[in-house]
Formats: sequence, structure tokens, C-alpha cells
Amino acid sequence: MRVIRFLEGGEPRYGAVEGDTAYPFAAAPWDDPVPAARGVQVAGLLLLPPCSPSKIVCIGKNYRGHAKEMEGAAPDEPLIFLKPPSALVASGEPIVRPRGYERVDYEGELAVVIGRLAHRVKREEALDYVFGYTCFNDVTVRDLQKKDVQYTRAKGFDTFAPIGPCIATEPDPAGFTIATRLNGEVRQEAAAAEMVFDVPALVCFVSRVMTLLPGDVIATGTPAGVGNLRPGDVVDVDISGIGTLHNPVIEEEWER
Ligand code: MG
Repeated sequence: MRVIRFLEGGEPRYGAVEGDTAYPFAAAPWDDPVPAARGVQVAGLLLLPPCSPSKIVCIGKNYRGHAKEMEGAAPDEPLIFLKPPSALVASGEPIVRPRGYERVDYEGELAVVIGRLAHRVKREEALDYVFGYTCFNDVTVRDLQKKDVQYTRAKGFDTFAPIGPCIATEPDPAGFTIATRLNGEVRQEAAAAEMVFDVPALVCFVSRVMTLLPGDVIATGTPAGVGNLRPGDVVDVDISGIGTLHNPVIEEEWER
């Protein structure tokens, strides 16, 4: 199943997509798994981020190739940090590049969407807590990531969390292939199976630190090949079996 979120009469609504039609749910699909029988045309809908998380948990250096290009090694246990939900934008919305920084990088990632309250879950049961998967771009001001002790500023600007276009309720996260294209040219390409810590390990680990709520997001880390975004660029994060997260880049209007 493919799940999108969109505006209907000014209200956000989830819908199950089949072909060119979205069948709305009365509530979030993890609470109400049966969509309405009558659908609406997907074309013309204003797409929202496909979930509304209480928190976005990101994983750092979860691919050896990326850890190496950051001049480090993969960590012994998952490295986690938070991005604020205020940074979320949907597929199609612009990434606003803050002025005055050398490197504002794209980081294409597979994101996990939680479907059940998860507190100290066992690794063997972790996938039961996953609702599905979507595409994510962990946009980062690299200058600030190096300068600040915390990643909060580097990763927390408005529009720095593009997500979508849909949630795929696929059973096997290891089968996904992630590709990031900058202006149509492939810059990152990796199998999710290359992750240092896989999805069950991440859900288990994070849920032993903080309770995960339905709709929460875990962004599972980026492969090698990160690079700078400039105003006028378009960046696509494409994951086999999910779809393409597409975002143009614009420059912020004000001086910093
Ligand atoms: Mg990242």
C-alpha cells in the first residue's frame, strides 16, 4: 500500500493511493486501516509530508562510505540526533538555502515511519512497530556541523527535512535501493542492506532511549556522495519501491 497525506477542505487527510486515485482514511492509517470506498483524483491534490511526527530521529554515519568521506569511522553503536518537525516539507516544496554558508548538503536517506507506540522493543519484534518507509533528505549546513558541538543548528533550519512523497508499507527494508540525483545526475547510490545498523537494530536502539509514537520518523543515514546544493538546483531522492522525493532549491530572501 502507498499512503499519502494531503489537504482536503483545509484539513490534513491520509489516503491510500491506487493508480491515479487516493482513497481517504477517516483517521491516521495506523489507527484506521480501512480507507473509504470513494476516492479522489491524486492530480491536483496539495501533497503534505506523508506523516506528522512528534520527532524525527536521525542516524549519523550509518554507511561506511559516508563515514569515510566525513573522515571518520562508522561508530560502535548508532549515533542519533533529532531534527525538529518544523523543518519538514513535502515533495515539490522548495528547500530554502540559508545565505552565507559554503556547504549546504543534500543527504538522501531511507526513512522509517513508526506505526505503534514503541518502548524498549526487542530487535526480533522491531519490524512489527514499523508502519512503512519513505524517502528523506537530511539537509545539512556542513560548515555549522563542523563548528557547533551539537548538530541542532546545522540540521534544524526550516525546510531541511524534505520527506515523501508517500509511505510504502513494504515488508523488507533491506531490499531498498537509494539513489540521490542532483539536477538529474546520480550522486548517491546504495542498497539499504549496506547500512551498518539495520532497521530492526535502529528501532530497538532508539526505543530504548525514547518512546516512539505512531507517525514518528527514523532517518536511517546517508550513503557516500553527499554534496552542495545551490539556488536553482533540483534534488531527487529516489528509493525503489517507494517513489521520488523531488525538491527545488531556492535562496533565502533575507540577509543573515
Ligand atoms: Mg544524515
